[in-house]
Amino acid sequence: MIDSIKKVDVERIYQHVMLIEGVKHPIVNPERLDEAADYIKSEFEKYGLNTNEQTFKIEGSDMTFKNIEGYIGDGSQPEILVTSHYDTTRNTPGANDNGSAVAAMLEAARVLASEENPGNVRFVSFTLEELQPTLVQLSRDKGLELGIIDEDYRYTSYHTHKMIKKFFSKVSVRLSKGKSSLESWEKSFDEIKDELTDSERKYCECIMKSRSKFTRTSWVGGLALVGSDHWVKQAIKEKREIKGVINLETIGYTSKRKNSQFLPPLMHPIIFPSYKVKARKRIGDFISVVSDKNSKELGKLFCKKCKLEGIKLPYLWARIPLRFEKIAKWLMDTLRSDHAPFWRKNIPALMITDTANFRYPYYHTEADTIDKLDFDFIMKVTQATIATVLEFSLL
Ligand SMILES: [Zn+2]
Repeated sequence: MIDSIKKVDVERIYQHVMLIEGVKHPIVNPERLDEAADYIKSEFEKYGLNTNEQTFKIEGSDMTFKNIEGYIGDGSQPEILVTSHYDTTRNTPGANDNGSAVAAMLEAARVLASEENPGNVRFVSFTLEELQPTLVQLSRDKGLELGIIDEDYRYTSYHTHKMIKKFFSKVSVRLSKGKSSLESWEKSFDEIKDELTDSERKYCECIMKSRSKFTRTSWVGGLALVGSDHWVKQAIKEKREIKGVINLETIGYTSKRKNSQFLPPLMHPIIFPSYKVKARKRIGDFISVVSDKNSKELGKLFCKKCKLEGIKLPYLWARIPLRFEKIAKWLMDTLRSDHAPFWRKNIPALMITDTANFRYPYYHTEADTIDKLDFDFIMKVTQATIATVLEFSLL
């Protein structure tokens, strides 16, 4: 085990992020999205893995999307999955979200492929984790038509900037309090509609119409997480046996500053098991291991590996004793990555994350660049992932 984790090469992780950093969005930059997919596939091949491209289409678009898979051995089941997404939002280079995770996944693949007995491990890099692109297109077209955004997606007046932000923040507050999607959008709209110009009102109505139809659970795979949701549905059809999933989501940012760490509503660090976390000072220098009722054992194992001599990675284990439906109601933020479609099907899955927007000031912005990242931290997360896979595959 110790020898295996020593093989992790932080320089390789850095070089992966160097190469895949850049906007990878199906509408704004489809070429870079494809290049990243090709890069991931060719790296898998370099390490001697078998590869597969799972292609699919979505309603309202001619584009073909692809999830990239690499697996060790002959594809025997049950399998352990290590996953990441390679797409970004329309405006961000995504060094942390999710270049950091793609890099860790690739390095874990390289190391595990060199092991004598790694078990059945499949690495999957998903596309379309972020907001469904036809919705992005729709709001962009509408905004341009109404003259309230420009070609660079900037609001053309301060009034619009202020009002749209207000609208979205009211919606998200309601959603995080467990209100239904329809109610969250409609009530928020009612509260601000008198302050809106005609164009702003039309724009808000368009956004509301396209998004409020998703329920607390149907947004998973509808509004976002489209690639992983497709993968899971296909896996269920093919009756694939999946023993567990380690989903890496935005894993590269730490801060030593006091009060640099926030958590979603209803979650407080002192209610969860942790290791070397300065909870009272709210210092954001730990990895968060998020498990649901089905993945408690896997979560426990990952945490055990974080404590290994030679890793010693501080963690907060957000051990949620609930299943998907209840989590969707009360802890919506914990569904915001590709483990969520697995949770919905009761497949044990973890989200491993630096907590993204609850810590990282540059989340989903143009400033999500390589210079912000803590590569020693990413290395440790990679090591803990490898160690977990090696033990879990024996169980
Ligand atoms: Zn992400």
